[in-house]
Amino acid sequence: MILLVVLTKMADKPQTQTFEDRPPIENQPTIGKKDAKVSIVEFGDYKCPSCKAWGEQIFPRLTKDYVDTGKVSFSYINVFFHGPESKLAALAAESIYAQNPEAYWTFHKEVFNAQPKEDHDAQWVTLDKLIQIARTSTPQIDVKKMEGDMQSELMQSHIRLDENLTTQYRVEETPTIMINGTVVANPFDYDQIKSMIESKLGESK
Ligand code: CA
Repeated sequence: MILLVVLTKMADKPQTQTFEDRPPIENQPTIGKKDAKVSIVEFGDYKCPSCKAWGEQIFPRLTKDYVDTGKVSFSYINVFFHGPESKLAALAAESIYAQNPEAYWTFHKEVFNAQPKEDHDAQWVTLDKLIQIARTSTPQIDVKKMEGDMQSELMQSHIRLDENLTTQYRVEETPTIMINGTVVANPFDYDQIKSMIESKLGESK
């Protein structure tokens, strides 16, 4: 009887997925010290409501506690589960990153802010909308250049890189948060995130 109970409990426990190598963050928008011992990667999608919620609820605490203090780096990798609109938003964001890494994070947040609360599946990401967001939220950005860059082979290669990483790291839902090589079972459990970070900060290598 006792054995049965234990087995059931083990089955209930969320499985942790760990990869030998952490996702590479070269050419990915990153804040914090790029060579920090602990790297956190969000696989996210601009059309995903949970990603918007994660950005509002968890990201500010994470940056305050760990990124601003120089302990961890944070990078964002695009996922395209919601199709062409996800890609269009990602192309605009990556183009802004190429011009001005700081402006990227403002734009990134404003795109999520523009996501409709009610019907996020309705079409809302358009080139005009992205240009409007760039003009109002990031005046330092040359919007004409952004539009041109969005068509460039370089930006297409950034999109392919993200697609390949999504496959390679077997991302099936967004947001997927990875701390070094380990997937956070519940990305909305900040205590879990904290204890994972603390444990990795304490590791010798
Ligand atoms: Ca990217």
